[in-house]
Formats: sequence, C-alpha cells, structure tokens
Amino acid sequence: MKFRNFPMVPRVVFGRGSFDQLDEILAPRRTGAGFAFLMDQVHRERPLARRIPLRKEDRLIFVDVTEEPKTTYVDALRDEVQEALGTPDGVVGIGGGSTLDLAKAVALMLTNPGSSADYQGWDLIRNPAVWKAGIPTLSGTGAEVSRTAVLTGPVKKLGLNSDYTVFDQVVLDPDLIRDVPNPQRFYTGMDCYIHCVESLEGTYLNAFSQAYGEKALELCRQVFLGPHTDDSDEKLMMASWFGGMSIAYSQVGVCHALSYGLSYVLGLHHGIGNCIAFDQLEAFYPEGVAEFRRMMACQEVALPRGVTRGLSEADMERMIDTALGLAPLWENALGPDWREQMPRQRVRALFEKM
Ligand code: NAD
Ligand code: ZN
Repeated sequence: MKFRNFPMVPRVVFGRGSFDQLDEILAPRRTGAGFAFLMDQVHRERPLARRIPLRKEDRLIFVDVTEEPKTTYVDALRDEVQEALGTPDGVVGIGGGSTLDLAKAVALMLTNPGSSADYQGWDLIRNPAVWKAGIPTLSGTGAEVSRTAVLTGPVKKLGLNSDYTVFDQVVLDPDLIRDVPNPQRFYTGMDCYIHCVESLEGTYLNAFSQAYGEKALELCRQVFLGPHTDDSDEKLMMASWFGGMSIAYSQVGVCHALSYGLSYVLGLHHGIGNCIAFDQLEAFYPEGVAEFRRMMACQEVALPRGVTRGLSEADMERMIDTALGLAPLWENALGPDWREQMPRQRVRALFEKM
C-alpha cells in the first residue's frame, strides 16, 4: 500500500482584521516586479478594495465570476498579468471559491507553458507556480486549502489538481464574510456541509478525514441550525477549512458528481447546484438530506425547481456523461462496484427530478 503525500498550506493568519497584515506579509517578497491582485469585482466599490496594500508596481485586476472560472479566462488573465508585470512577485486572490481558483490557476499558468486546458486533470502541472496567497470573502468551498483549482474547459469541468496548486499563504479574516447575503452564504456554506457528509459517508474515509469532517459538520450545525451569533463567521470560516482538509484525504461523492453535470451543461454555480442535487439524494444520504432540509428551513432558503425541464436529449446525455466520468467520486460513495449500482437510467432519473 502506498499512501499519498499531501502538501498543505504552509502559512495561515486567522482573526478579525487580519487582512490589514497583508502589507507586512508581502513586504519580504517584494523585488520590484510587483504583485498581481485578483479581486472579485463585487468588492470594486467596497471599502475592502481600498485596503489592499497596493504599490505603484502592482496590478489590481477585478475579476468577473458571473460564470464559474473557464480555462479561456485563466489564459487571458495570465496574458494580462504577464504583459503588465512579466513574472510577478506573486498572485493574491481575494474573493469566493471562483476567485481563489482563478488566482491559483493564474499563478500556475505563469510558469507552465500553453493553455490551462492542457492541465485539467491530476498531476499534469510540471513547474512550481509563482508565490500565491488566498483571502476568502465567502466561505464553504474549501478552495483556500485544497490542491485543486476547478476550471471549465472546452471538453470538461475538471480541476488543475497538483501539489503546486496549494496556496503558499492564506489570510482568514472573518470580517470579510460578514456581508455576504443569503442565499449565497447558505449555498456556499452547504458546499462545506455536503463535503463533510460525502467524506464521512464515503468508503475512502480514514481517521484523518473523519477528524476534520466531524468537526466541520459540528460547526455547520452551529452556524445553520440556529440564529446568527457574534462568532458565526469565525465558525463558518473554520468549517470551510476543516471540510476542505477532510476531503483532501478522502473524496466527495454522489452529490458532487451530479452537481458537476448541472454546472457543465446548465452553467449552474457549484453551491446552488450542490443544493439542488443533494435535495434528491435521500436514497444515498438519508440523514444528511433530512438535516440539510432543516437547515434550509431554518435559514429560510428555497431552491429553484425544474432546472432540467425541457433539456434536449443531447444535453441530458452530456450531463450524464459528465457525472459518470467522475469515477473516483462514485467509487468513494458506493464502492468498487459502483457501475452496476449506477446505470445511466438511474442517473437520468435523478437529474429529471431536479
Ligand atoms: P463564487 O466565488 O462563485 O461567488 C459567488 C457569488 O458570491 C459571486 O457573485 C461573488 O461575487 C459573490 N461574493 C463573493 N464574496 C462576497 C462577499 N464578501 N459579499 C458579497 N458577495 C460576495 O462562489 P463560491 O461558492 O465560493 O465558489 C464556487 C466556485 O468554487 C466554483 O467554481 C467551484 O467549482 C469552486 N470550488 C472549488 C473548490 C476547490 O477545492 N478548489 C472546491 C469547491 C468548489
Ligand atoms: Zn464542493
């Protein structure tokens, strides 16, 4: 048996107001080449944008995450950074999971030739990235700790999974997620909750994943099954971190496989796609789905219905292909004989109910 040897984020700052330590963190890395800051454009007119410790050689780019990150967008951002700065001192991503993934991918593509689409898969990246930092302003995906940057490419939605993908520095400032409106906070929070359920109910589970998954689940319950309290943001931020750590050594499951299909064909965002898929998965995760519905009621969030209604036959087939293409997810969820348990018809029936 060969065990996987995972990299982890080597440095992390945690605390309200810790964003203001960014200048101090970047200072020793400055050579004059400049930093590229990729910030979710939702912050453009907000005070946070003015708190970025920008020097004249730096470049601030507001990124558009209306659509989840595409390989073409990553390549264009890489070109823009390269044209302005050559090889920058580093890339800093400030935003939700989409922005963090864009920052990771751009940092990788500054040192690896070609298009990011060439590297969608596992361990295809050859050269270390430029230094990179992630600062979440929305919590749940675990993108701040994971070794992937999820991208939609010309033929698939699949991450740049590699040891070089992990951030060198993360800044966890709970103040930054304070103003995320519902239902966005809920959808992305449920990404974390679902990571935990899929990890804890999966066949790949070990004590490493369980330790992180159980703690993250407990934090999700505190955040989503009761009223908002003074420390809800701290708890949600740490739930996201622990949820990400839990799946690092296990895998996600049925919900994520189906949700990738929804995103790829319908362009649904990951968080809401997960919620729509999870709501139909009582047969796979009975307790998790029941608790998810209690959380939804408590947070007064409703889900869109009928999202696959009127879908063409070709699109339905693409959606099924996308979902069934994610073999490790199904194997984690159902074991080595998952193909027998999941004929195309069963996947189709699930999609049709969404
Ligand atoms: P997101 O980054 O797509 O953002 C969702 C919305 O929230 C956007 O409109 C954004 O502008 C807004 N937003 C962000 N911060 C805000 C704030 N402070 N206040 C108000 N609005 C804010 O959402 P997400 O759910 O965090 O990320 C989803 C993406 O993450 C998907 O592309 C998914 O594939 C990816 N993902 C990656 C990993 C990983 O390990 N790399 C894991 C899970 C999901
Ligand atoms: Zn997820």
